Amino acid sequence: MLKIGVLGLQGSVVEHISMLQRISEVQPIIVKTKKDIESIDALIIPGGESTTIGKLLEDFSLIDLLATRINAGMPVWGTCAGMILLAKKISNHGKTFLNVMDIQVRRNAYGSQLDSFHTTANIPEVSDSPIPLVFIRAPYVEKVWNDVEVLVKVNGKIVACRQKHMLATSFHPELTNDLSFHTYFIEKMVKPRISSLV
Ligand code: GLN
Repeated sequence: MLKIGVLGLQGSVVEHISMLQRISEVQPIIVKTKKDIESIDALIIPGGESTTIGKLLEDFSLIDLLATRINAGMPVWGTCAGMILLAKKISNHGKTFLNVMDIQVRRNAYGSQLDSFHTTANIPEVSDSPIPLVFIRAPYVEKVWNDVEVLVKVNGKIVACRQKHMLATSFHPELTNDLSFHTYFIEKMVKPRISSLV
């Protein structure tokens, strides 16, 4: 079984757990402690409020261990606030959090008019069918560097990208019924990494 953690400090935690329960060979785990972080094969950082999740990570002294595991190659996927936590630059916020992924993001990038919206997109790398995308006070990516691959743009803005074992999405697949992104993460990012270690 693959032990897939969902960071459980704040945000859409149970929604990710429910999606993971639909995938065979996956044991989903809510992650709250250093021991939990040490025990997992991969991690999802959910949407929520990045400043709150970041503060709780600091209060529980989890930042360094988590950043070390990610820098050592543990697969990670940040959705929405999770994307902000992974970024090395945040255009409209003074400090970064985990500081691991070569992306520059803008928080609450759509302003109040487009605060929350749905759309669909074809993302051939992830699925053969169009994928529903749900945005809630979402960030987008303003700049990528080094080996970050852009997976999809919506209205010219980057909203999903991958850098080796790190995936970041502005939107929330866990709030839809569509399992494509969770399956992509497990099949294309977690399993190859695990099999290269055995
Ligand atoms: N606006 C939130 C933030 O800046 C992100 C919103 C979300 O995760 N749905 O952290």
